[in-house]
Amino acid sequence: MKTGILALQGSFYEHATALKQINRDYILIKRPEDLNKIDSLILPGGESTAMLKIEEENNLFENIKILIDSGIPTLGTCAGLILLSTNDVLGKETLKSIDCSIERNSYGRQNQSFEALVKFHDFTGVYCFIRAPKIINYGEDVKPIAFLDNEVVGIQKNNVVGLSFHPELTNDVNYLEWLESFILKGSNVGTL
Ligand code: GLN
Repeated sequence: MKTGILALQGSFYEHATALKQINRDYILIKRPEDLNKIDSLILPGGESTAMLKIEEENNLFENIKILIDSGIPTLGTCAGLILLSTNDVLGKETLKSIDCSIERNSYGRQNQSFEALVKFHDFTGVYCFIRAPKIINYGEDVKPIAFLDNEVVGIQKNNVVGLSFHPELTNDVNYLEWLESFILKGSNVGTL
């Protein structure tokens, strides 16, 4: 089995680089049939409006939702978090896989991008925020897993993790170790 990386637009190659570093096979997802034979999924950063628009005409997101609901480990970074949230994006339905509301572009415009120390699970790393979404609130069954000072910038609900920032631009050892255990843990992620 492989990890699927949504590859309509955005920073999908950087996630592929991460998976290569942990010796994990991957497939770039562009069409519903690409979803066969994947047991984990990454939704990259980029532009959530563009991703939802590109897929307006076919049922890729419907099929992705079915897979996520089946419990496969799923990671969304930045625009990927927006796709996983309960917000609609410019009138288009998101996947609603994590009960949370976010505010798009809330950490500033492209030229206000920044790097900052983030506490992620039991380690701390310097990660990039690029037109990042803010997590405004989240449901009781959603666990905060990453912090920028006192702000929550990463959340997990069972098999689904959403991060405001871009760990794939750093691909540091701690992140790669976490990614390997998350992707490979499979059904155990549902025990949180
Ligand atoms: N602001 C973008 C959006 O709304 C997300 C930015 C990113 O993924 N770096 O989709």
